[in-house]
Amino acid sequence: MPYIAEYIWIDGTEPTAKLRSKAQVLADDKEPGIWGFDGSSTNQAAGDQSDVVLNPVLVINDPIRGGGNKLVMCETLLTDMTPHPTNTRAKCAASAEQYADLDTWFGLEQEYTFFEGNAPLGWPDNGFPAPQGGYYCGVGSDEIFGREVVNAHLQACLDAGLHIAGINAEVMPGQWEFQIGPITAPGIGDEMWLARWLLYRIAEDYLGPKGIPISATLDPKPVAGDWNGAGCHTNFSTNEMRESFDKCVEAAESLGAPGKPELHIANYGHGVELRLTGAHETQRFDQFSFGVSDRGASIRIPWQVEKAGKGYIEDRRPNANVDPYVVTQLIIDTVCSAAKS
Ligand code: ADP
Ligand code: MN
Ligand code: MN
Ligand code: MN
Repeated sequence: MPYIAEYIWIDGTEPTAKLRSKAQVLADDKEPGIWGFDGSSTNQAAGDQSDVVLNPVLVINDPIRGGGNKLVMCETLLTDMTPHPTNTRAKCAASAEQYADLDTWFGLEQEYTFFEGNAPLGWPDNGFPAPQGGYYCGVGSDEIFGREVVNAHLQACLDAGLHIAGINAEVMPGQWEFQIGPITAPGIGDEMWLARWLLYRIAEDYLGPKGIPISATLDPKPVAGDWNGAGCHTNFSTNEMRESFDKCVEAAESLGAPGKPELHIANYGHGVELRLTGAHETQRFDQFSFGVSDRGASIRIPWQVEKAGKGYIEDRRPNANVDPYVVTQLIIDTVCSAAKS
């Protein structure tokens, strides 16, 4: 029996790349191999030299089609088999390899917002819902919008074997979060991109109360004003941090070294300054701070970590629309190079 391999890759859309996919039918004794696509349709090539190569990096069971069908996460290569300029995974993999002895783990908290048409799911056509306060981790149809999709996505990620660690309703109505990890890079990026693809794909199958199909967005500030933005808090540890509180503090300090805050912020997702305003549990994009339990800091050291005297720290700055390969690569380079000096 042949099976269907859905090849998934990251395109060249600016300023924020999008996911693309297409399917190939394979004989049951064949592994998903090298494939390609028309890069002139994805902002990845000129029309006269349009071929871009798809190189499988992670193959999982397809939880939507089921059976023996597969989802195939790919990186993009040029036809000489070197990384495509839009391939951020290759650099992430190189950094992880360079500092492999520090065994960095990442746990990503992906926040996102459901939309129905032009409004967040559950919002009135005109005006606004009741102010924030009762929605975070809430229950009841007056506060919770989209739980069916969230549960279907959670189950799909589990069926696919992804390292999904949990879900929760967020502070703004229609906004949710799932967590992946902790695992190493670049695998964390592979799994996050696959989990994002599954979220978009599964939402296609559900209608909102107005009868319009639900969509999910990683927009970092989907509603201006007094409504929480959407981030991708990046929790991480090295083997040293997992044994020592001082190493956790040193890691936080290294992220504040001269030039580092600017470098990280510039690569933490388009529109990061719209979200990091200093309000809504954020530090301003142009300031750097860290502290125990401080959700208004750039970097939070969880209270359990202080108590245990070891663990991990949370970079609260990355936007929901950040590239997980980029944020993990930057953190590895900044924290591990400082730890080695
Ligand atoms: P909060 O919402 O309080 O910030 P979450 O429970 O949503 O916290 O997320 C905590 C994250 O921390 C999880 O994604 C988990 O994978 C990650 N994490 C836990 N321990 C470690 C560790 N040692 N190294 C890296 N990440 C970790
Ligand atoms: Mn969380
Ligand atoms: Mn959250
Ligand atoms: Mn968090």
